[in-house]
Amino acid sequence: MPGYGVENLPYGVVRRPGGEPQPAVRFGDGAVVLAEVLDDPVFREPTLNAFIAQGPDAWGRVRERVGELVTGGAPLVALSDVETVLPVAVGDYVDFYSSLEHATNVGRLLRPDDPLMPNWRHLPVGYHGRAGTVVASGTPIRRPSGQLGPGEFGPEPALDFELELGYVTDGRGHIFGFTLVNDWSARRMQAWEYQPLGPFLSKAFATSISPWIVPAEALEPFRVAGPEQDPEPLPHLHVDEPRALDIDLEVELNGEVIARTNARHLYWSHEQQLAHVMSAGITPKAGDLFASGTISSAEGYGCLLEKGGPFLEDGDEVVMRGIAGAISFGEVRGMVASGGSPPSRLR
Ligand code: MN
Repeated sequence: MPGYGVENLPYGVVRRPGGEPQPAVRFGDGAVVLAEVLDDPVFREPTLNAFIAQGPDAWGRVRERVGELVTGGAPLVALSDVETVLPVAVGDYVDFYSSLEHATNVGRLLRPDDPLMPNWRHLPVGYHGRAGTVVASGTPIRRPSGQLGPGEFGPEPALDFELELGYVTDGRGHIFGFTLVNDWSARRMQAWEYQPLGPFLSKAFATSISPWIVPAEALEPFRVAGPEQDPEPLPHLHVDEPRALDIDLEVELNGEVIARTNARHLYWSHEQQLAHVMSAGITPKAGDLFASGTISSAEGYGCLLEKGGPFLEDGDEVVMRGIAGAISFGEVRGMVASGGSPPSRLR
């Protein structure tokens, strides 16, 4: 399987039929179950969190050792014989809004003459999302019900996807690795609820992530200069170039590619986003998830809202893929399930 050679070696968690979840590294069409080749109790945990908490030196050592093992013929479990599950127990989840094209396109729908808010070029705008509804790729996405306007409650008619790049940190602000993120969004609920505090339930019902976390170290060769920033960011948000990552991204809807873009277009880089969070005195925890915001560009839209719809129907399947040279991100997949009848009032 191209995209999963020694250059990549992404981390995930696999489960054999009837077995416990086990941290693993993907190589080709197989995976190395880490507890079977490395003597460290962190690999007997059901998530990657304890390993992530060890920090970059440990990640580098394990990556090097696993590279030697797989090229030396270490036993692999076939991916067809295991299920991939959520690789981390997500502590906190932050979603940014860091694509200039996306922010401008969406802003124009609401404020045609002045699409970009005055803060946008000064800081990476974001919000805290709901960690407990981050789900593994392949999990069916139930259409949410909610308030759609004054006196109106029902199934969301304008269900959307958002193509994003996510990353997972340790407890000191180092980035462990990157995933694909689909930030499912309920647009009618969002338009009604978002003022003045931002999105709430419309983006909290489900967020899908890809099963394999590509190590940050593997992506170093794919750094490229980011878009020019004007005004110059404040000193604490300054990062050296090249700050962006050259990752080709695509969205497929029901088997047809409907959008192509690239993570290099992000105005605010992952390191600037994290610096912004930490500037407030916040220290992330191992396993926290950060997402870029919808990645749009002149080449393609990362969501349906920017195209003006049509939105997702029940049974629609959305697949997002990413690739950087010989490094595949694999895919994040989700099918829309009917929401059923709205819940009755709580008693
Ligand atoms: Mn989003």
